[in-house]
Amino acid sequence: MNRNEQLFERAQRTIPGGVNSPVRAFRSVGGTPPFIARARGAHVWDADGRSYIDLVGSWGPMIVGHAHPAVVKAVQTAAADGLSFGAPTEAEVEFAERIVRLLPSIEQLRLVSSGTEAAMSAIRLARGATGRDRIIKFEGCYHGHADSLLVKAGSGALTFGHPSSAGVPADVIRHTMVLDYNDCQQLEDAFGRDGSQIAGVIVEPVAGNMNLVRGSAEFLRTLRELCTRHGALLVFDEVMSGFRVALGGAQELTGIEADIVVLGKVIGGGMPLAAFGARRDVMRHIAPLGPVYQAGTLSGNPVAVACGLATLELIERPGFYETLARRTSQLADGLMQAARARGVAFSADAVGSMFGIYFSERVPASYRDVMQCDRDRFNRFFHQMLARGVYLAPSAFEAGFVSSEHDEALIAQVVAAASDGFDGLA
Ligand code: PMP
Repeated sequence: MNRNEQLFERAQRTIPGGVNSPVRAFRSVGGTPPFIARARGAHVWDADGRSYIDLVGSWGPMIVGHAHPAVVKAVQTAAADGLSFGAPTEAEVEFAERIVRLLPSIEQLRLVSSGTEAAMSAIRLARGATGRDRIIKFEGCYHGHADSLLVKAGSGALTFGHPSSAGVPADVIRHTMVLDYNDCQQLEDAFGRDGSQIAGVIVEPVAGNMNLVRGSAEFLRTLRELCTRHGALLVFDEVMSGFRVALGGAQELTGIEADIVVLGKVIGGGMPLAAFGARRDVMRHIAPLGPVYQAGTLSGNPVAVACGLATLELIERPGFYETLARRTSQLADGLMQAARARGVAFSADAVGSMFGIYFSERVPASYRDVMQCDRDRFNRFFHQMLARGVYLAPSAFEAGFVSSEHDEALIAQVVAAASDGFDGLA
């Protein structure tokens, strides 16, 4: 038994499944997850001392690479001044000002500690601000694990969904409607029927939790128009796409502005930090200004805020996103060429520094399309890549992430590994 295997066995005795978040357990791809001992730049090292080119980036936050010296220094400096106060700080004001400057749809924001908490609070805000209960979400989009958002589609369009987890009462999701992503007709029908009861619609404008699926321009435009017409609030969950697909997130790419924006991942630079923000007239409903309760002992934690600020400073450098997008396209194109050369049914897509790989001839546009990709092939490809020192997300339903530390040579190395990996599938 190697050290990873020993640790996994030991972990399973005291931690359910040996992990603190389920996808880490490699259940869908099989095998033993590497236990990560350290990380730097574009690489992670496991407990056996093996290094991998990391295309997971802690599921999105590590956009400037691991342990960036400027970020580590900011964290160390902040930590030396105290780990938590539960009182306001100047740094969190600076942080809020920076986000407001970068995202035109946000005039005020509240910091929290996870994307789950941010999305949950955004939904409460949408309900509290409109005085309505009903919300719409889309099949395949993930917004964290708040009860009312753990819903999967029912048997037909326009039916209410079923809990996607045990422990979520049907009563709690009674107000959550689940529609198909990129389906404008379903949206029109839902608003036509229940428009005056809908508090808000929550959507990943670039979906990254059913592999990578772009929200179409028509879909996002329709969403914007319907919400405005019916007085519902459009909630963009940019936990993944925010500061990832562009400096201004999906809103910059699509030109569509949300009423409430949910942020996480990149804004914390790897520390537990997330946020939700909106125009002032919406945020005034939040306590202590208004009646929508929301709070947190560690919210705006000074070490997390210092980490986030240092990261935001780095990503504002000129050309940062252009270079990242170029490298990510180079990766997607390289993978597609390698697969084509070997006759493997495969496609890839990139939006900014997010990418998707699909064992299917075409890029999916919906959850249903994603479900038709060849999962068994993905799982074998995943292990081919892992054996060649490339760490992909251990599931066919996750997007991948490129950091500014992934230079052209590393991308070429990944493509070369994939060429061999595709051969290994035959
Ligand atoms: N929203 C989106 C779009 C996400 O991708 C995630 C996490 N992958 C979340 C919300 C939940 O964030 P967290 O894991 O920080 O609770």
